[in-house]
Amino acid sequence: MGQRDVAFAVCPAYLIAMPINPEAFSAPAADPSGPVNLIGMDRADMEAAFAEMGEPRFRADQLFQWVYGRGVTDFDAMTNISKTLRAKLAERFVVARPRIARDLGSVDGTHKWLLRLADGNEVECVHIPEEDRGTLCVSSQVGCTLNCRFCHTGTQRLVRNLGPTEIVGQIMLARDHLSEWPTAERPTIYERALSNIVMMGMGEPLYNFDNVSKALRIVMDDAGIAISRRRITLSTAGVVPLIRRCGEELGVSLAVSLHAVRDDLRDEIVPINRKYPIAELLDACREYPGVKNSRRITFEYVMLKDVNDTDADARELVRLIAGIPAKVNLIPFNPWPGAPYDRSTPQRIEAFAEIVRAAGYPSPVRTPRGEDIMAACGQLKSESERPRRAAAE
Ligand code: SAH
Repeated sequence: MGQRDVAFAVCPAYLIAMPINPEAFSAPAADPSGPVNLIGMDRADMEAAFAEMGEPRFRADQLFQWVYGRGVTDFDAMTNISKTLRAKLAERFVVARPRIARDLGSVDGTHKWLLRLADGNEVECVHIPEEDRGTLCVSSQVGCTLNCRFCHTGTQRLVRNLGPTEIVGQIMLARDHLSEWPTAERPTIYERALSNIVMMGMGEPLYNFDNVSKALRIVMDDAGIAISRRRITLSTAGVVPLIRRCGEELGVSLAVSLHAVRDDLRDEIVPINRKYPIAELLDACREYPGVKNSRRITFEYVMLKDVNDTDADARELVRLIAGIPAKVNLIPFNPWPGAPYDRSTPQRIEAFAEIVRAAGYPSPVRTPRGEDIMAACGQLKSESERPRRAAAE
């Protein structure tokens, strides 16, 4: 990605002391007697579902194209399918986006949707228009387990992972609102308002890797939404064991939320560091499949006043990433109610950036986007909380 790519959204919390029971965190199973959502199904799922109805394999290709390529939600619009079969499909399946609970537009053109999921949980998703691209910041979990100290989402207790339906649904809903589905009159759209995706919304995508991976493979498929892996960036706080798989299976660009250059400080502000310290994280970056100068790793570094923003920190950063094709996105801290940090001054951020640039790394300073609607990096939070014991009783 170029100098101008955007890094935003949010993330939080941390696993260490948490007993992880994947069952507890998965999306609730759909009502087996109700209609099944086609969104979130890949080709193989569709083939299997249609085979049960006695339909040939090519039905999956047809439906895949209608659903993901054309954005159609009504079976009656699927004109190359017989009326009888359309009626049968409508009995068993739906094509349903998440519901919009709140829709907020910023003065700078950034747009934030609060989405209500089928079980009542909520997540946020943000569209950031720029001159030469439009980026959608997508959530992977309701809340987050990482507890990064400067991140608003981290103050929310994790409720659960999002399923492929809910991840792909965010992108499809944004495309609806941007009126970007190809039609007979406009079969090819050259300048897309939704051209790029960053997995930088609520949650840690590598703690929900299987669902994120399935969703992104659907999104990248040429017959459907067709956003290329070159236009997708996955951001992680550093789940080291999954970084290689992310490169091998998805081939998307990697962003790493570094934020500190010493383990003692990173242990405190990005607590997953206690499990996967800086040296291990940087080794995984060095070995990231496909990394080269034209496909750099992005290091994200939040500028926290008097915490991680000295010239010495900048020099240590340069020393640590030596040999990694990289760029360093400096993100001025975005405040939220009750946050324990302040933003570094513009002069401090510029001095820090100059040291990184002098060492040969592009180091853009991110302009906060959508601050007035709390849509900037680290500001996303929904009201969803794990039900408290008392409430459950
Ligand atoms: N869990 C993933 C995805 C979230 S990306 C990750 O940590 O990378 C969201 C980015 O915004 C991360 O780099 C995060 O550290 C950063 N961020 C979080 N809170 C922030 C804040 N208050 N100000 C600026 N950036 C913040």
